[in-house]
Amino acid sequence: MPYDIIIRNAMIIDGTNTPAYAGDVGILNDKIAAIGELSEAHANTEIDAQGNVLAPGFIDVHTHDDTNVIRQPECLPKISQGITTTIVGNCGISASPATLTMPPPDPMNLLGQQADFQYPTFASYAEAVTAAEPAVNVAALVGHTTLRNNVMDDLFTGATDEQVAQMRHTLREALEQGALGLSSGLAYASANASPEEEVQQLALELSEFGGIYTTHMRTEFEGILGAMDEAFRVGQKAKVPVIISHLKCAGAGNWGRTHDVLKKMDNAAAHQDIACDCYPYSASSSTLDLKQVTDDIDIFITWSETLPEYAGKMLKQIALDMDLPLMDAAKALQPAGAVYHCMDEADVERVLKYKLTMIGSDGLPNDPHPHPRLWGAFPRVLGYYSRERNIFSLETAIHKMTGLSANRFRLAGRGEIKAGNFADLVLFDKNEITDVADYDRPIAAAKGIVAVIVNGNIAYTEKQGVISRAGRFLARRSQ
Ligand SMILES: [Zn+2]
Repeated sequence: MPYDIIIRNAMIIDGTNTPAYAGDVGILNDKIAAIGELSEAHANTEIDAQGNVLAPGFIDVHTHDDTNVIRQPECLPKISQGITTTIVGNCGISASPATLTMPPPDPMNLLGQQADFQYPTFASYAEAVTAAEPAVNVAALVGHTTLRNNVMDDLFTGATDEQVAQMRHTLREALEQGALGLSSGLAYASANASPEEEVQQLALELSEFGGIYTTHMRTEFEGILGAMDEAFRVGQKAKVPVIISHLKCAGAGNWGRTHDVLKKMDNAAAHQDIACDCYPYSASSSTLDLKQVTDDIDIFITWSETLPEYAGKMLKQIALDMDLPLMDAAKALQPAGAVYHCMDEADVERVLKYKLTMIGSDGLPNDPHPHPRLWGAFPRVLGYYSRERNIFSLETAIHKMTGLSANRFRLAGRGEIKAGNFADLVLFDKNEITDVADYDRPIAAAKGIVAVIVNGNIAYTEKQGVISRAGRFLARRSQ
């Protein structure tokens, strides 16, 4: 049988968390057609893997690439890490369904400017993604804050019954058009006044469609256990899976508490469908949040709209330069972006290792000095955490970015190397793979990603960069 592509002599790690094995993979059209010993077969393109690891393309379950997959369809920060699918619309903020009459409120401004929000319906967003021909596949959640912003003039309050009804209607329409589910960002001021009941009402729309609920919880600081309870209640009452976004214990007073947090995950997982995602760094990043301003930790300012000359400096230094208290300096910088060195490394490792943890970058593609996770999250898990720190095997690391992720986000036909699945694949050198991006120089492609294949097309090689843009919009269930 002839194939379009054969990859020979690969060390196959198939995404199921089972041991690696040597073999060849044959690709025909957009699918994996055969796996095994294919020395008798031929193909137009034959790749000698030379014993490198062949894995399912990585799935970045936590991103804010909503408008970037359209505006920068080469998706270089993604594809250069081996990511073949990006899930957008996390943390309550999504580019659709959105109707903006004013500039986007914090933190919707992480996704772009007002002019970038051009998608009043989920279907119009899906069409725009398809038309843009991004290098990676795109699936999308609907953001609670985006829904609120469509119908509320004042985000610092709870929605009225009528507004809730309008949001439910819009969410339902988006689910009919292929949205994966609902995300919330309750920690942010633009959603924090929303009572649990408001989110609960929206979540009730999900189960009929097989939708999921993901949440950037109300707090990741001292009150984290209560915030987890809230998230689990919403999922339980709505009978839908819950995914805790970027699970962490933030704030110096909170370090070491991942023991309690993971015990709570275990307890909840015994009777409901839950999971979480995590990025492999001990610093977080978002817009500059006055609630998080403290001199207990280092806070790096990545951008400032009002005082751009201070971007790229530590807040402590800026406060000294301005001769102002820390909080007053922070207020003067807003709106602004920040990297908060707010976590304990042992907590990060504990969460990464946890059995229900998937890898998500949470990369911020519009930040001029982004947190290095944007370009480095996946290689860092493989190189630093698996190879160097040895916190888990390569098979487990890959499972957390492929099979587990496709299963939890219900992406059919992806996340595992298996005959009949879509040919989303990454070939990498396990001894070489390294995240090059760091806090000082965060814009840098990873080392060791040999080739990336998306829907049966060679999409990227380390030598040639982006070769093709074969990503698709992945509507729920109709992939
Ligand atoms: Zn978030």
